Amino acid sequence: MNNSTKQYKLTALGEFADSAVEHAYRVHMQPLSARHLRVALIVWGSLILLFGVLDLQSLGWSRDFYILLVCRVLQATLLFAFAFMLKRRPELISSGRVTTALEIIGFVLFMPIYFLRPDIATFTIGVIGLMLLAMFLFVPNRLVLTLLAAVAGVVLALVCIAMNGRSVDVLIGAFFVLALPVVTGFFTSQQLHIVQRRQYAMFNQANKANRELEQEMERRKLLEQELKRQATTDPLTGLFNRRQYEMLFRRERERCRRQGTSICLAMADLDSFKSLNDELGHDAGDIALKHIADLFTAQLREGDVVGRFGGEEFIILLPDTGATEAERVIERLRTRLETSPVMLKGEPRTITATFSVSAVWDGETDIVETLRRVDEGLYSGKRAGRNRVVVV
Ligand code: GH3
Ligand code: MG
Ligand code: MG
Repeated sequence: MNNSTKQYKLTALGEFADSAVEHAYRVHMQPLSARHLRVALIVWGSLILLFGVLDLQSLGWSRDFYILLVCRVLQATLLFAFAFMLKRRPELISSGRVTTALEIIGFVLFMPIYFLRPDIATFTIGVIGLMLLAMFLFVPNRLVLTLLAAVAGVVLALVCIAMNGRSVDVLIGAFFVLALPVVTGFFTSQQLHIVQRRQYAMFNQANKANRELEQEMERRKLLEQELKRQATTDPLTGLFNRRQYEMLFRRERERCRRQGTSICLAMADLDSFKSLNDELGHDAGDIALKHIADLFTAQLREGDVVGRFGGEEFIILLPDTGATEAERVIERLRTRLETSPVMLKGEPRTITATFSVSAVWDGETDIVETLRRVDEGLYSGKRAGRNRVVVV
């Protein structure tokens, strides 16, 4: 028996053995059960009032008729009142106590008929039998409580028959007439309870499996995203790695060619970075690299591409941008870097870079060809004193 089968194990009284599951089931069924019970209560109360017409026919406006009328009105009032309360507080149905109490009170208030209308005594016993059956089939309640109310009803009826001085034969006959609907009602209702709970268990298991599947799909999606991120970015700076910016270069270049716009490529090499590493350590150098990567990304447009070429060198791709505009953008980047010191070992440290920028020429289909030219520009920038933008 696996865990979930064990969890949904049913008792002979048609309830989940696990009280928490049973509670959850009743809460789940509450709105529907409350609606069914309200209908049952209204029908029950209406029938009790309607049968008063038969009393009047037989007893006339007599004292006995008024006693019965009081019993009937009292009972119907209780039933209607509970039906009304259920509309506002459907949770009253959950424990089943009120329903059971009403059923027992109903029997008590029904019994005077047996004494006051001896003409229809047999008929009254028959009606009690039907009431017992109806209790099991139409009044939603816990099976054990319905059984309790039914036994109370049968005992009450037998006591009334005995009080009326009937013979033991009649008593035994009545017992069988009343036991039959109780037994039939009990087993039919038990089946209904079991079927409903099995359906609920199946519904819950399917829901759980669905949820697990959704979680698994979500987990895989995240894993896929993470793998993709790892495959396309540089772990230290989070910038695009070589494979990714080369692919983006080809894609953007082709798009700009189709749309008749220019695309520019820039390279940046940090100035005297080796001495920063030597002075403050490699860890501080890494912090500086991350700072610069974030600064470049924040300064550029959404469609621009920033990649790590290697070491302390960066690649910047500016699609839909002409050479003049690209020079302006890169110059702004240089100034921004120069004026944004990074905190290293508790001290602000200014880092500069030399930039080289160029429009991608028509014949250049591979990034390597453009890079070769741009790299030359970088060297001349270094030779000329660093911290500058060279246009090639
Ligand atoms: P310049 O470019 O101005 O000529 O001087 P430089 O000192 O930057 O020149 P070079 O290219 O010779 O040195 C690059 C240094 O960058 C070497 C190395 O210490 C450092 N570097 C490269 N990659 C990393 C890295 O991932 N982390 C850190 N902390 N340092 C790096
Ligand atoms: Mg270098
Ligand atoms: Mg350098």
